[in-house]
Amino acid sequence: MSLLRYDVTTGDWLVLASARASRPDRTGERRRSEPAPHVPHDPDCPFCAGNEAKTPPTIDAEPDPADASRWSVRLIENKFPALMSDARTERRLTGPLFREMDGHGRHEVLIESPDHGRALAEQPAAQVVRVLEVLHRRATALGRDPRLEVVQIFKNSGSAAGSSIPHPHFQIIATPIVPRQLRIKFETAADHYQVTGSSVYVELCRAEVEAAVRVVASNEDFVAFTPFASRTPYEVWILPRQAAPTFDLADRATLPALAALLIDVLGRLRAVLDDPPFNLIVNSAPRRHADEPDFVWHIEILPRLAHAAGFELATGMAINPVEPELAAERLRERTRRDP
Ligand SMILES: [Zn+2]
Repeated sequence: MSLLRYDVTTGDWLVLASARASRPDRTGERRRSEPAPHVPHDPDCPFCAGNEAKTPPTIDAEPDPADASRWSVRLIENKFPALMSDARTERRLTGPLFREMDGHGRHEVLIESPDHGRALAEQPAAQVVRVLEVLHRRATALGRDPRLEVVQIFKNSGSAAGSSIPHPHFQIIATPIVPRQLRIKFETAADHYQVTGSSVYVELCRAEVEAAVRVVASNEDFVAFTPFASRTPYEVWILPRQAAPTFDLADRATLPALAALLIDVLGRLRAVLDDPPFNLIVNSAPRRHADEPDFVWHIEILPRLAHAAGFELATGMAINPVEPELAAERLRERTRRDP
C-alpha cells in the first residue's frame, strides 16, 4: 500500500510507493546495445502479445482491425501501481505537522501496439488514432469518479526518461489531490482569464501562429510549436485550435488530426536529435475546473538531453542552452529520420 504525504514546507503532496522499488527494470539490455535493433516480439516482455497472463487483466482495448480475436491497443492496471483505487481518501495526522493519507488513485498502462520495437512515431496513423481513442475513452471514464482530482496522461520514452519497460506504452496516473505544480498552472490561467476575459492558451496559440518563428508544424485542428519560454532544448507543445479544458472534452473527430501531427512532430525530433529519450505529457485542467474556460488541454513533449542539476532542483528555474527559435527552425527543416 502506498502513502500520500504532505510537505508543510512546499504545500505539495508526494507519493511514497515502496512496492515500486521491486519492479523489474527491463531497459538494461537496451542501454547496453543502443541503438536498439527493431525486435517485433520479445518472449520475456509482459507487454508483448501472448504474454497477457503476465499482466493484470484488460480494462479497455481496441481489436486488431484485420483479426478481431487479437488486440491492437490494450489498457491494463499497472502491475506495480503507485496509487490504488481501493485506498481511502481521509487525511490523518501522525504528528503535529505530519499529515498523510492512503495512496488512493489509479495507475494504468496503455500498450501502444503488440509490436515490441515500433516507436509511436513509426506507427501507421490509424494505429495512433486507436491509441488516442482508448486514452480519450479512459480519461472520460476516470473523469466521472468524484474522488479523482487529476487524470494525468503521460509517456516516458527511453530509460533516461524514466521508462523501465522498452515496449512502447503510455501511462495514466489519477490522483485524489491537485498537485501543486498543476494548481499553480491552473491558477495562473484563471487569473489571466479574470483580467482579460480570455484563456491564456487560446491567446498563446494565436500569438505563436502570428509570430510564426516557433511554429514547427500545424494542421486544421492543431498547432505544434517550441514555446517562447521553453524549459528544455527542443521542447514542443501541441495545442488544439478548438479550446477545451480537458483532453476527454476534446472533440473525438479531431483525434485523427492529432495523430497526424503527433507522428509528424515525433518524427522530426527523431530526425534532428537521433531518437532522443523524451517525456510526453497531456496537460488538462483539474476535474473540479473542467467546466471553466480558463485552461486549454495541450500536449508537452520534453526531450531529455540533460539532467536537472542543483540549481534547477533548488529553484525550479530551468537553464535551457538552446533557443526555441533555433530549435523550431531545425525541426522545420527535417521530417523523418534518414534510413
Ligand atoms: Zn514487448
